[in-house]
Amino acid sequence: MSQMLKPIYIKDSDFPKEDNERVTNFDLLEAVSHKVCADAIKCIQLDRNLWRIYFNDKESRDSVLIEGFDFKSLHIDVYDTNPYSAGLENHNDKALKVTICGVPLSVDDSAILQMLEKLGARPKSELKYEKIRNPSNNKMTNVLNGNRFIYVEPLTSKALPRFSYCAGLKCKILHRGQDPEKPAIACTKCWENGHFARNCPNEKKCAACKSSGHEPGSEYCPKYVEDPKNIITIQGEKNVLSNFYACDLNVFGETFNSAEQAYQLTKAVRNGNLVAAEKIRDAKSAFQCKLIGKTVTSTPQWKAESDEVMEQILCAKVDQLKEMKDLLISSRPDTMFSHSVYDLYWGTGLDSMKTAHTDPDAWPGQNKFGKMIQRLADKLRKTKPRSVSLPRTMKTRQQGIESFLG
Ligand SMILES: [Zn+2]
Ligand SMILES: [Zn+2]
Repeated sequence: MSQMLKPIYIKDSDFPKEDNERVTNFDLLEAVSHKVCADAIKCIQLDRNLWRIYFNDKESRDSVLIEGFDFKSLHIDVYDTNPYSAGLENHNDKALKVTICGVPLSVDDSAILQMLEKLGARPKSELKYEKIRNPSNNKMTNVLNGNRFIYVEPLTSKALPRFSYCAGLKCKILHRGQDPEKPAIACTKCWENGHFARNCPNEKKCAACKSSGHEPGSEYCPKYVEDPKNIITIQGEKNVLSNFYACDLNVFGETFNSAEQAYQLTKAVRNGNLVAAEKIRDAKSAFQCKLIGKTVTSTPQWKAESDEVMEQILCAKVDQLKEMKDLLISSRPDTMFSHSVYDLYWGTGLDSMKTAHTDPDAWPGQNKFGKMIQRLADKLRKTKPRSVSLPRTMKTRQQGIESFLG
């Protein structure tokens, strides 16, 4: 086979669709073959929230890349590189475009610039105003649509949050390389949207491949990995990387006895629940902190900043805990860190054994915590190159109920 051309990328969220409606690869084939001959298309593939289209010849790829294509009379933009990583990893990019939506036109540019500065973005251009496009010919009109955009220096560590506050108003921030939006609540029994597991009328499906008759991590699952590569699973109070690990930690000007206590106390305080904060302060274990923290209702503001808080806590912990730092520095560069708990946001959504034996692309959870640890390890390895190697796989086994709440 001749050398395969790089695919083009499309975000699934860019397609116009109703709730529960799905774009199929056949829909896409139809739409793209209005643009180029169907024979020129080699493969149309959806992985999580990202479509990849492979072409047989470069002209067809270029043509779709440059002009995009129409889907249900809406113009769809395509990406030359993976939009979920490009903004962060492609350092050849001299500037990253950031779009800000939902700020009334009457709000001064300086308020937006201030917000961006606070979020750590370094502007390389003026703020500009987006104009309305005619959907039928994709031509620009002279009328503004209220969105503003700016070019900033490529982000070195992490993506900007999707939501923030500007002049007291919630606004949306978009750029290449952001994590996909949190998916709509799906049932954790049948994995369909729109209801919870406790009133699920359907039969149980595998969390990894979403078909029935087996559990994730079983050899009957198409996403089964027999020989896990270099995976470190994180969970439980004995694991130094886990927030449940007991340690003295100074962060935000206070002392805590675990990273979990620091996080849950910050959550309670920032959501204005001082009763819960007091209880978390007195809690005997990280597990208790977690349980009390669960009773705190989150404001949108907290949801927008909770990643940042977690990251600050982890940075403080790695600075202060030599055993954590040593473990991360000495991990192999290809190590994958996974937070193997049943939390679909911070964790993989699977226990340690199932996590290790399932293709990471099929983990039901976003593994945000694991990814943060991963970034810390990458950073540390770069700053202090050493040649200490770690056992190939380090696994901690599931322990009791804490792991379900991780
Ligand atoms: Zn269900
Ligand atoms: Zn399966």
